[in-house]
Amino acid sequence: MPGRLYYDDSYTTEFTARVIERLKVGEHPAVILDQTYFYPTSGGQPNDRGTLGGAAVLDVLTRDADGAVIHVLDHDIDGDTVTGSIDWERRFDLMQNHTGQHILTQAFVQAVGAQTLSFHLSDDSVTIDLDQLNLTPDKIYAAEDLANRIAQENRPVRARLIDPADAESVRIRKVPERMFTDGLRIIEVEGFDTTACGGTHVRATGEIALIKIIRLEKRGDKTRVEFRCGGRALRDYREKNAVINQLTMDLTCSVGELGGAINKLRDELKAAQSALKAASTRLVEQEAAQLYEQAPCYDEICIVTAAFENRDVSELRLLASKLTDHGWTIALLGTAGEKAHIICARSREMPDDMNVPLKAALAVLGNARGGGRPEMAQGGGIPATLEQVQAALLAARQVLLP
Ligand SMILES: [Zn+2]
Repeated sequence: MPGRLYYDDSYTTEFTARVIERLKVGEHPAVILDQTYFYPTSGGQPNDRGTLGGAAVLDVLTRDADGAVIHVLDHDIDGDTVTGSIDWERRFDLMQNHTGQHILTQAFVQAVGAQTLSFHLSDDSVTIDLDQLNLTPDKIYAAEDLANRIAQENRPVRARLIDPADAESVRIRKVPERMFTDGLRIIEVEGFDTTACGGTHVRATGEIALIKIIRLEKRGDKTRVEFRCGGRALRDYREKNAVINQLTMDLTCSVGELGGAINKLRDELKAAQSALKAASTRLVEQEAAQLYEQAPCYDEICIVTAAFENRDVSELRLLASKLTDHGWTIALLGTAGEKAHIICARSREMPDDMNVPLKAALAVLGNARGGGRPEMAQGGGIPATLEQVQAALLAARQVLLP
C-alpha cells in the first residue's frame, strides 16, 4: 500500500515521489504516488492542499477499493517523478485546531465529566458535541482553563501504534474498520490524553498557543461547543476587538459600559417611536377634521375625496377611520406612487357596500386588485400617477352619486 508519510512526520512539506497510477476524478486528472505527505479527507479532518509537479492539488481522497491516496489536480502533469509541496499555512492551522480538539475533549472529561460524542473540523469552524446540557459558564471556563494550561505546559504530543486488541486502554469510539498502519494509531498528549486518531497533530502543545471557546449551541440532548485554536483564535480576537473598539467609539463608553449603553439606546428608540406615533395620530386627526369640514354633503351624507402622493398606507387607513368616525361619512382616499392604493370607507350605520365604488376606482387604474368588507374596501398595488388616482376616485364617487 502506498506510504502515508504524514503519519510519522506532519512537518515535512516538500517531497518527491513516483507516479504509480494516473486516473480521472470527474473532469479532473488525478494521480496516485508511491508515497505522499498529502493528508486525504478522513476522520473529520479536511484534506491538505498544495501543488504536485506544478499542478494545484484540489482534493485528496482515499480510494475505497484499496485505500490508495488519490491526488486530484487542476491539470495534467508529466514525468514519473514529481515534487509535492504542501500548503503549510493550511496544514498547520488544521494541526493546531485538531490537536486543540484532543486537549479540549479531555479537559471537558476531567473538569466537567462531559464526553465528546462527535467532532467537526473545517476550514473556518471547529466544534465538538458534548453529551451534557446546561453547561454553566463556570464549567465552560474550568474546561477552557485546563485546556490552556496543558497548552502552556508545552507537553510533547506523540503518535504510536498499538495492538487493536488493546483499544480499551485508550479513548476511542470504535476501532476503525480499516487501518492504513500496522496497528491502531494512538495520539498521546503526554500525561494527559490518549486518543486513537489518524490525523495530523502538532509535536508539542505549546504550538497550539491558545484554545478559546466562542459559542455554545443546544442541539437536542447535546451541546455543540464551537472553539478556535492558534492562529484562528488570534484572528477571531482581532476581529472582535476591532468591532468592540468601533462600538465604544460610536457610543463613547468603555467596554464594560457597552451593554448599558445599548439598552439605553433601545429604550430611547422605543420612547421616540411611541412619541412619534402619538404625534402622527394627532396630525391625522386634525387632517381628518379639516377634510371633513371642506367636504360636500348630499342629503346628510358627506363624501370626502382626497388623493395623495407616496402616502404611507397604514396612515391612509388611519385617516379613513378618523373620517368615518363622523356620522354618515364616506371617505374615498388614494395615494399615487410605485404601489398606488385606494381606500373606500363609510360610517358604520350606513348601508352602502364599499366594494362597489372600489371596483369602479380600480377599473380606472387598470390591472389593480382589491376588496374588503362592506364598510371598508381597499386595493391597488400597481404604479399610478396622482392624476390617475384622482380619476379613479372620481369614478368611485360617480358610482355613489349617479
Ligand atoms: Zn487527532
